[in-house]
Amino acid sequence: MPQYDVIIIGSGPGGYVCAIRAAQLGLKVAVVEKRATYGGTCLNIGCIPSKALLHASEMFREAGHGLAALGVKVGAPELDLAAMMAHKDATVKSNVDGVAFLFKKNKIDAFQGVGRIVSPGQVEVTAEGGGGKQTIETKAIVIATGSDSTPLPGVEIDEKRIVTSTGGLELTSVPKRLLVVGAGVIGLEIGSVWRRLGSEVTVVEFLDRILPGMDGEVAKQSQRIFAKQGFSFRLGSKVTGVAAGEDGLDVSIAPAKGEGEAELLQADKVLVAIGRRPFTEGLGLAEAGVELDERGRVSVDPHFRTNVEGIYAIGDVIAGPMLAHKGEHEGAAVAEILAGQAGHVNYEVIPSVVYTMPEIAVVGRGEEELKDSGVEYRAGKFPFTANGRARANNQTDGFVKVLADRATDRVLGVHIVGAGAGDMIHEAAVLMEFGGSAEDLARTCHAHPTMSEAVREAAMAAWWKPVHL
Ligand SMILES: Cc1cc2nc3c(=O)[nH]c(=O)nc-3n(C[C@H](O)[C@H](O)[C@H](O)COP(=O)(O)OP(=O)(O)OC[C@H]3O[C@@H](n4cnc5c(N)ncnc54)[C@H](O)[C@@H]3O)c2cc1C
Repeated sequence: MPQYDVIIIGSGPGGYVCAIRAAQLGLKVAVVEKRATYGGTCLNIGCIPSKALLHASEMFREAGHGLAALGVKVGAPELDLAAMMAHKDATVKSNVDGVAFLFKKNKIDAFQGVGRIVSPGQVEVTAEGGGGKQTIETKAIVIATGSDSTPLPGVEIDEKRIVTSTGGLELTSVPKRLLVVGAGVIGLEIGSVWRRLGSEVTVVEFLDRILPGMDGEVAKQSQRIFAKQGFSFRLGSKVTGVAAGEDGLDVSIAPAKGEGEAELLQADKVLVAIGRRPFTEGLGLAEAGVELDERGRVSVDPHFRTNVEGIYAIGDVIAGPMLAHKGEHEGAAVAEILAGQAGHVNYEVIPSVVYTMPEIAVVGRGEEELKDSGVEYRAGKFPFTANGRARANNQTDGFVKVLADRATDRVLGVHIVGAGAGDMIHEAAVLMEFGGSAEDLARTCHAHPTMSEAVREAAMAAWWKPVHL
């Protein structure tokens, strides 16, 4: 008889949620984690530390630039970067300790070490630092090993001067010139932290737009706002090398396509943020016969089963958006499936947020995507400049866009650029989860004065007419 019903390899949001849900459903659960703390990329080096620094740096910016306009004079704020980093570290600690507490509470056995699949029912755990090996047995295995930063050919990361997001959240002084490679979510968020603290930030992006994958209008308007905040963008360009120069780092950039002059830019730090890749190193997948797709992700069917009986996979290591909550939902779904229930994830309704100021939040499809798939839609838009609360808060940057099916009025996508967008997006997510229409949203009473009224007005515009525009 195996010791466990399920062994989960990796304790990120995918793995730890799967473990807790499985234990709640009465399964005997073990988790294998190679890090010293639980919570994976998200809690240790991703979502949580980045949001702690985004919040703290926004407070610093607000004290220096925003408060005086509201009649609050505080003088020039002084940065105590060590204290800001201590706040970030304390936030991480309380979150990872929280996961350890939940493991105990739910009687989940946690093994510290590198997990390797020996066979469908066996996982070998090698403790870090030569602490020995042991093999544990189980009915099912869930691979939840996440992802790591994609390297940039020709650029060697040292996590001091040339950093990934991990080093970018650990800098001990504010770089005078920060060059960010990649205008995706992580590059813009970490770029925002250092921009607010005083860095000159240049973002180099291969494509001719920022925020690849997002609605084009949202990306364009957001770029304008970031430019107003002092970001400079080099779009349609690629970084071909970084070398130590006389004045900091010499960064070679060239046009992304075709001919054109190569150029040298100077920077004090370079942040490489060109994406993340699935992490499967040392798991023994080839030996176990587990198939990967063309991008190195573990292939799964709609029930998260790999091609090998009894082995499942979830989170960043499989296809889909690399988002903590996507992994969490997959984790819960697999736990339910293992407990004999019908777990599933609705990939049509997975919100995505860029935690800059203003925030950028999206759920569902963008205009280009709808056009490409030949769907006829109506777009309703409402700017925050016309929203009373936004004016009162001096936070009028951005807009809401609701996209609804032209024939049925069903909401297909909602896009918000604005302060608090990351919280406001969820009313759209709930609406879409229930197949709601723009009229449903428009007829739902919203409290006044709130930023959320702009969401309702955009729905009114998609369905018929807004009132306040
Ligand atoms: C800077 C940054 C900011 C981010 N911000 C956000 C955000 O705001 N919102 C959001 O939704 N997402 C964000 N993400 C993405 C998010 O962190 C990931 O989508 C999420 O962590 C994926 O969860 P996961 O459980 O699949 O894997 P991970 O969180 O990567 O966890 C995998 C775990 O598996 C362990 N592991 C790997 N191999 C083994 C092995 N063989 N044996 C034992 N353990 C192993 C790893 O040590 C790790 O702890 C951010 C990422 C970064 C880098």
